[in-house]
Amino acid sequence: MSFVSDKVTHLPPYLFSEIQQKKKTLQAEGVDVIDLGIGAPDMPTPDFIIDRLAEESRIPANHRYSPYRGCTEFREAVAHFYKKQYNVDLDPETEVLAVIGSKEGIANLMHATINPGDTVLVPAPGYPVYGTAVDLAGGNSAALPLDETNGYVPLYNQVDHKSINQATIMLLNYPSNPTAATVNDDTFLEAVAFARKNQLLLVHDAAYDMITFHGYESPSVMQVPGAKSHAVEFGSLSKSFNMTGWRIGYVVGNKEVINALATFKSNIDTSQFLPIQKAAATALKSDFSAVKRHNAIYQQRMEKLYDTFREMGIEATKPNGTIFLWAKVPDGFTSTSFANKLLDEAGVIVTPGNAFGSRGEGYFRVALTVTTGRLDEVIRRMRQLRGVTN
Ligand SMILES: *Cc1c(COP(=O)(O)O)cnc(C)c1O
Repeated sequence: MSFVSDKVTHLPPYLFSEIQQKKKTLQAEGVDVIDLGIGAPDMPTPDFIIDRLAEESRIPANHRYSPYRGCTEFREAVAHFYKKQYNVDLDPETEVLAVIGSKEGIANLMHATINPGDTVLVPAPGYPVYGTAVDLAGGNSAALPLDETNGYVPLYNQVDHKSINQATIMLLNYPSNPTAATVNDDTFLEAVAFARKNQLLLVHDAAYDMITFHGYESPSVMQVPGAKSHAVEFGSLSKSFNMTGWRIGYVVGNKEVINALATFKSNIDTSQFLPIQKAAATALKSDFSAVKRHNAIYQQRMEKLYDTFREMGIEATKPNGTIFLWAKVPDGFTSTSFANKLLDEAGVIVTPGNAFGSRGEGYFRVALTVTTGRLDEVIRRMRQLRGVTN
């Protein structure tokens, strides 16, 4: 007999487990493996945020349970950020909810909003967590196709009518993981209109909203007039402030959905540790100079690798944001065979595009999460690969 549920038994294997296993084996053999596979910032959380955490953690009142929806200071800081960055007004009481990272928030949102058998449109290629979250909540995911030739905007006319009719939710993610695609406000205008027309909830994952380059500013779905009647948007401190391990994010928008998620969550967790919420509030109320500093570093890394790829004949679109470079595998390779070649012959880990669904086949994702010094070593090793350069 087994104590494990069918639900868990049938979960897809963790994206990186196979690659990480191989990494350990190679490291044990003495190979200096360079890991460009993990999509998490390598730089530390800025000191001013850590200082606030240290201060608040000494206050006994902060050792008690947080309010379910997150403390007032955090929810007000989110509203402040939306006003300042997007000129969007949010009611911190009803239109903002703290989540224990957006991954938690998105998974629980599915339970709070879909009934078994409902269809959810998920970006393809896209972040694999979405499809799994839908599965765990008993829903069915249907691909919302994205394509490089259209800049990875949603191709609504490529979704069959049956899926659209059965769909109750549509997920979007810009700036995007894995494609690093960014969009202008027209894409969100169109998305809200599509949601309204088809009676869908639009869920936008804005995990990389502040990680942008070349003067590009990422819009918010909430800037679309009337968005609140059909949309919620997730944000996270993880990537912009190098706070992946802190587990703090938020969801804003439609009151009814926020309330449903808060109700569901109140039966599962009791929000995040108060000092973490307060430190996150300090981050959101800051001048974002720390974020700009990190962005300059990501951009420098991206340009260096992009230029090398170009010289080598590896095609990529130069991104305006995220911590990724998304590129085409050279002729004669699949995503998997190229990722394997890089690991076996250069000791470099990248993520094969098919890890993000079949529409990611033919691509690979590089995380810009090592120093330029290490990237120089990556470049040196890549130039020695046989059968790659043209
Ligand atoms: C990293 C990432 C997240 C996870 O963010 P957390 O707030 O740390 O849970 C969500 N969405 C995308 C697309 C990501 O890449």
